Amino acid sequence: MDMGKRIVIVGGGFCGTVLAANLLRHPPSRVCEIVLVERGTEVGRGVAYALHDWPYPLNVPAGRLSADSRDPLQFLRYAQRTLTDVDGEDFLPRQMYGDYLQEFLAQAKREAPEHVRFSRVYGEVTSIAVGAAADESPTVGFANGDSMDADWVVLAVGNPPPPMLPWAAPVQEHPAYRDNPWAPHPTLSRDHAVLIVGNGLTMADVVSSFARDAGRTPRMMTVSRRGLIPLPQSTFHAAALRGDGSGLLDSAGSIRAVLSVSRIMARNIEHMGGDWREVVTFIRNLAPSIWARLPDVERRRFLRHLQCHWDVHRHRLPPPVAARLDRLRRSGRLEINAGRIDSLSPEGEQVRVTWRRRGETALESVLVDAVVNATGPDYVLARSRNPLLRALHRAGHVSEDGLNLGLRTSAQGACIGADGRASAQLFYLGPMLRASHWEATAAAELRHHAEQLARHLATLAASS
Ligand SMILES: Cc1cc2nc3c(=O)[nH]c(=O)nc-3n(C[C@H](O)[C@H](O)[C@H](O)COP(=O)(O)OP(=O)(O)OC[C@H]3O[C@@H](n4cnc5c(N)ncnc54)[C@H](O)[C@@H]3O)c2cc1C
Repeated sequence: MDMGKRIVIVGGGFCGTVLAANLLRHPPSRVCEIVLVERGTEVGRGVAYALHDWPYPLNVPAGRLSADSRDPLQFLRYAQRTLTDVDGEDFLPRQMYGDYLQEFLAQAKREAPEHVRFSRVYGEVTSIAVGAAADESPTVGFANGDSMDADWVVLAVGNPPPPMLPWAAPVQEHPAYRDNPWAPHPTLSRDHAVLIVGNGLTMADVVSSFARDAGRTPRMMTVSRRGLIPLPQSTFHAAALRGDGSGLLDSAGSIRAVLSVSRIMARNIEHMGGDWREVVTFIRNLAPSIWARLPDVERRRFLRHLQCHWDVHRHRLPPPVAARLDRLRRSGRLEINAGRIDSLSPEGEQVRVTWRRRGETALESVLVDAVVNATGPDYVLARSRNPLLRALHRAGHVSEDGLNLGLRTSAQGACIGADGRASAQLFYLGPMLRASHWEATAAAELRHHAEQLARHLATLAASS
């Protein structure tokens, strides 16, 4: 009797959910079981699409966020069934996207053939014992002591938590310090002051949430090394620019040459009445090929000098959020700074911030009532705060790339161990794919990787 094959997906956020749905829609031809494990209380949400008391907006318009590449307007249609008056350029609440992912999975389950079983398991995976031989089954261990054998395990554990900021150590346990930027904020008033460390999209989330009530909006200051904030989205045509990208690919021996070609393209597009965002989308689609061609020294140059500029052009603010930040800056409620934090120290219920503006030598000092760490994920595996990743790293089952961008993976998504070999049983899907592809953080790229990995696993299961 065919006992079937078991694929265990660890993490039921965006990647785990979309992978499970794809496996259900295009399963192996033989009996198999798909198990989706989530340590939280719901699948389909993860960090990005979780339920909050504030409707954080998506940073991509509804018409460009389908979880199915063959049906690009699927999310838009879902939203139109739920809300009236929605069009493809609207920036909808992120939690609605989580509802949609749950429906995406539920529909795939309803339509799956009978030889595929699907189950959800709620619990935290704390270990994965991977045998040395390719035909040895990995065993997935849970925090409650349970275990489960699998034929293949996919790590879809999401973004790592932000780094422990060394100068924040004295206030780590202080009630005014928030390591999780999306945790409920303390209730503050206009007399209070807030420090937000970081100036990216997370900063915009934190500011929006503090400013939800104009009568109670505290004074907010942000600090990042360069003080650059994301540029606003527009209603540009994402697919306006066509071509094989040979100009960019041919320049990919040097990051300076890539920059120069990109600038010319942006100038030409704007000259013809287009939008520089079209060029950014074009480059984003080519990013994995450009990244693969860039020599290591050029990748380092990009990370040191250009990444912050790429980030503010690539990860853009929904227009209403950009307008809110503008308003707050003009009214003096929000101050965006370039500089460095020197120290944080507790002072009663408040925190004293000592910092230095970029280009200045003198230290400044200010008392704040809340500090929020919005510096983004810490991709350095060796100091990961995810116990499972740390254990797998220590055991040599996963390894980092030379630039500490994420996890080393094969072209099929298999984890590459410390010995340089691609695992036959352990796969990875998620933002740490940026080690190989650079652009791997948004739904569009991750959807593509989920579809590709589902095809690969289905082929493996059918042929083993
Ligand atoms: C705040 C935010 C907003 C974003 N907004 C957008 C957007 O508007 N548009 C866009 O295109 N992209 C957006 N992104 C990017 C992208 O969609 C997400 O990064 C994507 O959701 C990543 O999916 P994931 O499955 O890797 O991680 P997650 O969705 O975070 O899922 C990981 C899951 O794994 C679980 N898990 C972790 N460890 C374990 C364990 N040991 N055992 C069991 N379960 C575990 C977690 O509980 C979590 O549910 C956003 C990202 C963030 C962080």
